[in-house]
Formats: sequence, C-alpha cells, structure tokens
Amino acid sequence: MTMQNELPPLDTRKRIALVAHDNKKRDLLEWATFNHGTIAQHYIYATGTTGGLIERALDVPVFRLQSGPLGGDQQVGAKISEGEIDFLIFFWDPLEQQPHDPDVKALLRIAMVWNIPVACNRASADFLISSPLMSAPYDRFLPDYSTYLARRTSADDALHPADIA
Ligand code: PGA
Repeated sequence: MTMQNELPPLDTRKRIALVAHDNKKRDLLEWATFNHGTIAQHYIYATGTTGGLIERALDVPVFRLQSGPLGGDQQVGAKISEGEIDFLIFFWDPLEQQPHDPDVKALLRIAMVWNIPVACNRASADFLISSPLMSAPYDRFLPDYSTYLARRTSADDALHPADIA
C-alpha cells in the first residue's frame, strides 16, 4: 500500500490521549509525573478515570472523555479518525479481560489506520516522549485508501444492473 501525505503536519504542540486500564493506572501516573514538564507542553486528552488521576497528580488541564468501558475508548478512536488526536499512550492490561475488550481492539485498530504514534507500555512511552519529534512539526504520512474508497460493493451492482451483464 502506498503512502500519501494528506494531513497538515502535526504541530509542535501535540494532542495526546492517555488511557490506562485499572491495573496499569499507577504505571501511567508514575510515567506522567516523571514526564510532567514535557506533558505540560502538549494538549492532554484522557478517558474519564485516567484523566481525573492525571489532572489531580499533575495539575494540567485534561480534556476528559467518558470512562473507557462507558464509551471513552470509542470517543478517543473517533477523535483520531477526525484528526483531533494525534498521539496515543494506551497502557492496556495484558493479564485481565476487560468488559470493553472489543473497544480496546477497535481503538488500537483505528490508531493503526490513521498512522498515529502509539505506546502501549512504559518502555515504548519513554522512547516516544523523549523523541526530538515531540517538540517539532511532523509530516504524518497516511496510507493511501483511495482504492478502498473507490471499491465496488454489492449495492453498486444493484444500482447499475447493466454493469453486471
Ligand atoms: P478509564 O478508562 O480511564 O475511565 O478507567 C480506561 C479504559 O479502561 O479504557
């Protein structure tokens, strides 16, 4: 699949979504506290409970969405597809089933679709947050979905029966 650059470059000030499952919230909080200075330079979005913790611990403004199991993960995914969130730190729990497992998978999938940076554990988050690109504009390349968008479906056949003959 070819890559195509359709979006304006990511700004120096990134819009970062933070999400952590309950067993991973302490990890995320420690990571965010350690990186307080860097995080404060960006716009922070978060699912409800994670966002409340970050707000209290770091005293930074957080755009809080619903709690994850109540739709928060889906809201983050929607914002990624609308170009409103450009960075995802998602500490999901590999050892415990979640009531919203399908939403977790959907969020990770949509982050891949839109080629945004994603960190799912502390080591990856450390590498991402310390990248020089965090404080620089970044040209994000998007996969070229034009062939997919122009595809024929069964409805096209129904609308243009002559084409089938
Ligand atoms: P929470 O949601 O921050 O509201 O706990 C996180 C999640 O489970 O997706």
